[in-house]
Amino acid sequence: MNLATWVERNGRRIGERAALADGVRVHSTWSQFAARVAALSAGLRDRCGLSPGDRIAIVMGNRSEYLEAQYAAWRAGLVVVPVNARLHRAEIAYILEHSATAVVVTDADHAPDVQALVGEVASLRTVVVAPGEAWEELIGDEPGPLVDRQATDPAWIFYTSGTTGRPKGATLTHGNLLMASLSYFADIDPVAATDSVLHAAPLSHGAGLYGLPHVAHGAVSVMPGSGALDGPELLALLRRWPGMSFFAAPLMVKRLAADPALQGADLDGLKTIIYGGAPMYLADLEHAMQTFGPRLAQIYGQGESPMTITALSKADHAQREHPRWRERMSSVGFARTDVDVRVVNEDDREVSTGEEGEVVVRGGVVMDGYWGDAEETAKALRDGWLHTGDIGSLDAEGCLTLRDRSKDLIISGGLNIYPREIEEVLLRHPDVDAVAVVGRPDPEWGEAVVAFVVPEEGRRPSTDELDRLCLDQIARFKRPKDYRFVDALPVNSYGKVLKRELREQLSDEPPQR
Ligand code: AMP
Repeated sequence: MNLATWVERNGRRIGERAALADGVRVHSTWSQFAARVAALSAGLRDRCGLSPGDRIAIVMGNRSEYLEAQYAAWRAGLVVVPVNARLHRAEIAYILEHSATAVVVTDADHAPDVQALVGEVASLRTVVVAPGEAWEELIGDEPGPLVDRQATDPAWIFYTSGTTGRPKGATLTHGNLLMASLSYFADIDPVAATDSVLHAAPLSHGAGLYGLPHVAHGAVSVMPGSGALDGPELLALLRRWPGMSFFAAPLMVKRLAADPALQGADLDGLKTIIYGGAPMYLADLEHAMQTFGPRLAQIYGQGESPMTITALSKADHAQREHPRWRERMSSVGFARTDVDVRVVNEDDREVSTGEEGEVVVRGGVVMDGYWGDAEETAKALRDGWLHTGDIGSLDAEGCLTLRDRSKDLIISGGLNIYPREIEEVLLRHPDVDAVAVVGRPDPEWGEAVVAFVVPEEGRRPSTDELDRLCLDQIARFKRPKDYRFVDALPVNSYGKVLKRELREQLSDEPPQR
């Protein structure tokens, strides 16, 4: 099934309802959206010379034309390469080159950067700017046909955020994305045509994926007016588009939860905030629950198994009387309906309950492989299981607790130290706003634990206090040997902390004794 079928169906069934909105304003109804998608698909075929299976990249901020491009491309049988528009020009060039993309749809903000790549990226023939004249010119006189797609046909090449190296292109098929959408209905929320989805995070990543089940069931896709959603804007959008859900990285949830405009505000129109993509610390989660109430659901996934490995539902969050509620809130929840999840050792053998190992996942949502990279595909997909590179453990009830990515693990004096455990403790200090713990090469211990601490504004916790907090809660050997007070942590454009950069910073320093 071609995912663009949903747009055509909604055009017929609920044609008068809003499909796309720019802030509080309707951009198009479902019948208008369906008509534009059909006509644009003809333009992509005839005027851009694209054939089914060809790659088309979208390098744009979140805007309605983004979804026009995405669904028109699918209708024409093309493979979409969503590129995070905040990436550096050289990173964009790498992705276009690697995916052998022929056409890029971009917006005026990113057009100069992208246009400069014509000639530099061998495969790149055409750059179309939307909205504007060029975009309207692509609208053919006749609607293009809905090209038949099999479940195994690629739909979306999802370039990983590359926190641990060069981005890899997880090839997601129409079948994978259909499964991710059905899994959303099964484990997160049902969706109705009266609902809305707010695209507050980049459409090239989590927000785009959560858009799919909403498009499937005819909810309106809302683009916020500003780049950085704040409390007042959220309240205005909630009044206009109730039944609202949105995806946000933990750092964004934290920022919104502290927004003065949202304290005690009427949040009736807010249905669900889906958070994930990086660890959400317990202290931040408890704070967010005070602001948002029982409207938070957590997901754990990766581009290779699009946002679908485990989930901690709204009901799990609300169950405060559960004897292990705090442990559960620090976990990533339970296997999604459509996947098998296991924890295995280096020999790929399942470990016992409570034991740590690599998280592996199997199911219809798992990617086909990495685009043009048989070697990395063979490493990641072994015996039908996706090896996530994340370390975790399952408890007797099937609840998965993630430790860290294997690359972030610190080994000091031969002992494994999981940074997240130390971070959770340090964040309990009232003067600590954010923290990242990494290992520094150490001649005696192999690695030494270093904590980068961002203090709350105008505050400065003492290292003695931080040490005491650690000694009270965790084994002595895990205590940081060194605290670095910094103004901010390096994050990528998805809000993930770049521990690689912190480690590089430390390894550039002369060895310490
Ligand atoms: P990406 O494919 O770039 O979105 O990165 C996926 C990685 O983000 C996963 O392999 C995990 O390491 C991390 N991640 C995703 N969701 C969560 C979560 N809920 N809690 C902690 N880490 C997460």
